[in-house]
Amino acid sequence: MTTPQQRAANTRRLYAFEATVLKLNPYLSMQRNKLWLVEQSRYIWIVERGSIFGCPELYFNDALKLSYSQSGHGIHFAKDQHDLMTLIHELAHALGPEHEEVHGGSFVARYFSMLVDHGQLDPDELAMNATMFGIKCKRNYAYPDR
Ligand SMILES: [Zn+2]
Repeated sequence: MTTPQQRAANTRRLYAFEATVLKLNPYLSMQRNKLWLVEQSRYIWIVERGSIFGCPELYFNDALKLSYSQSGHGIHFAKDQHDLMTLIHELAHALGPEHEEVHGGSFVARYFSMLVDHGQLDPDELAMNATMFGIKCKRNYAYPDR
């Protein structure tokens, strides 16, 4: 079990990593149109789940400051977050399992695996950069078969 302080620290580390490292990747941070995001969400969901069943609806709300995913209520995109990094992050939440360790090791493992598969990231570079931010994940996402 983790404490609320540890969970908050996990979230801070991940957000800092996204804002300083992933944001520099044009493929991940480029602002996309809504149709592109919808098509990508369906493609990624089918690859990850093996079926379109349960694929979340996407909503776009310029009044939001931070995008979020809510089980059964879709993914809500904030203004200026219409990008692949945000889509993959929120899809990783939607794919679950959802639990109190919001940005803990299980989430990071799934998120990073999806960044490699759908975000064109090099797994070794991703792992090296994340380590510098103190981010750990529960399994070796780069080599899931090992
Ligand atoms: Zn999140």
